[in-house]
Amino acid sequence: MKPETLSIHAANLYKAATGDVTQPINLSTTFFRDENGGYPGGHMYSRVSNPNRDALEQVLAGLDKGEDAAAFSSGNVAGMSLFQALEPGSHIIAPDDMYWGFKKQLLTIFNKSLAFDFVDQTDLDQVRTALRPETKLIWVETPSNPMLKITDLAAISALAKERNIIFACDSTFASPLLQNPILFGADLVMHSTTKYIGGHSDVLGGVLITAKKDSFWERIRNIQQTGGAVPGPFDCFLLLRSLKTLSYRMRGHCENAARLAGFLRGHAQVESVLYPGHADHPQHEIAKKQMSAFGGTFSFLLSGGETAARKLVNSLHLFAQATSLGGVESLIEHRFSVEGPESKTPRNLVRVSVGLEHIDDLIADMEQALAAL
Ligand SMILES: *Cc1c(COP(=O)(O)O)cnc(C)c1O
Repeated sequence: MKPETLSIHAANLYKAATGDVTQPINLSTTFFRDENGGYPGGHMYSRVSNPNRDALEQVLAGLDKGEDAAAFSSGNVAGMSLFQALEPGSHIIAPDDMYWGFKKQLLTIFNKSLAFDFVDQTDLDQVRTALRPETKLIWVETPSNPMLKITDLAAISALAKERNIIFACDSTFASPLLQNPILFGADLVMHSTTKYIGGHSDVLGGVLITAKKDSFWERIRNIQQTGGAVPGPFDCFLLLRSLKTLSYRMRGHCENAARLAGFLRGHAQVESVLYPGHADHPQHEIAKKQMSAFGGTFSFLLSGGETAARKLVNSLHLFAQATSLGGVESLIEHRFSVEGPESKTPRNLVRVSVGLEHIDDLIADMEQALAAL
């Protein structure tokens, strides 16, 4: 099935006795046992599994071409569960502009149990140089946040496969509609479902998708079920509802972002635009190879420095000054001030998540705010 069909039909797994066309929300935390102590409904206790989470996991595994998926209560805890599944002493090669929440986890939570290096993964030599005998995981984020770097998934996969290293990709910026890392050799894919998958800025969640149900996946599943950082049935219902329109929302986000990026590129107040769809983006060719479109979130740098960046985000009427991305409403933020003083993000960088408003209104708003700088 194509993604448009899969996201609508795969979620309707249960034909309730009442004849519901869409899946009801099952709030029960516990499920009946039969005379022999079995679980005739297939569920025992809702931390372990429940019908709404099962449906969500099946749709997400299907969309990203994996064998299985595990849903979590946030993107952060999805990544954290993967790090927890590694043996103590393992070494991780992570991207230099890794999503700051994950960088913070490695630096402050896993600093005693795991070793790691942050390298520019767009330069494969840097990845090769960082390899150690204890390297157990290469974690890639593409497109990356907030620099929109594109990492060559097939090249990283070749490097990892030669050495039996697990290769995982944070694919949040692309969503399962624009990029399927498993098709390029990734073992695991991670999404913050808070972003494009949720799409309406009203539900927090995360997911890991696996190419194979192997022993490492069993460790992750055990952490999910025994740890219990799982989304509740209502969160799963919201995500399943959102998934049904994901393909159409992604088309709108990508189309609007391409138009806005094109407008900004020619503007005198803009130093540069970091958008993988532009032919002069350093990894444009790789983006073309592994993505079906270039996404709805990008960054740009202002000629007037940090002052101009901070002024701009306060002069817009349609772009809400708020963190996060992937919602129907456009969001904009001065990224450095979100990440804090240790951040390497350029101070004149603004990140924009282009929503589904009419593009003419968005461009007019951006035009007036730039003119006021
Ligand atoms: C938001 C985000 C995360 C973290 O997800 P949460 O749902 O906020 O915990 C991880 N990676 C990327 C690229 C993100 O944008």
